[in-house]
Amino acid sequence: MRILLVEDEIELAAALRGTLNRRGYVVDHVRTLEQARLASQEPGVRAVLLDRRLPDGDGLSLLPFLRAMADPPPVIVLTALGQTVERIEGLDAGADDYLAKPFELDELLARLRAVSRRRAGLTPEPLTLGALSFDAVHREAQIDGRPLQLPRRELALLDLLLRRAGRVVLRETIEAAMFGFDDAPASNTLDSHVSRLRRRLAERGAGVAIHALRGVGYMAKAE
Ligand code: CA
Repeated sequence: MRILLVEDEIELAAALRGTLNRRGYVVDHVRTLEQARLASQEPGVRAVLLDRRLPDGDGLSLLPFLRAMADPPPVIVLTALGQTVERIEGLDAGADDYLAKPFELDELLARLRAVSRRRAGLTPEPLTLGALSFDAVHREAQIDGRPLQLPRRELALLDLLLRRAGRVVLRETIEAAMFGFDDAPASNTLDSHVSRLRRRLAERGAGVAIHALRGVGYMAKAE
């Protein structure tokens, strides 16, 4: 996938470009609005990462130009201007998303996937592990193609563990996803949810093991 990066900070641009290249994106980097107008006409530009403070003006002024294209690419505005009013300004001007600097590269990558999906009208591929698959958009789990009914919190747990299959997911991360502010979990609640989910998966032959790292978190792996 090809990305137009409009950014005048050379070091940031180089870092972004390196990360995106490693993830298989092709990056066209320009430093000014004028160059961006030209570069956006290149065929195959699928997304634009747009800085606001550019040498020849505010990045937002590029948005109407991009919107007028036959197949406008999604735009993520990347900027140090992170105040709420500025974010609203960016979204109202037609940006698909807005990320305040400094940001985590992983978050940028996730948002890039999200805007690309929305633009393409595609839903993400189901997450799969062993015989288990999970459709994160419709919140449905299946084992060997047959539905697996799970309570809401176990679905949230499964979602996280499958997204990070083979990696440890910290207890705090899981608890933040599983429990709202109003229902702070007792210390053993997470463990009991995990036990129930483990049992259901085993009964149905999901071929998925949930390993515990005591006091740290959990990790899902294919058996
Ligand atoms: Ca700048």
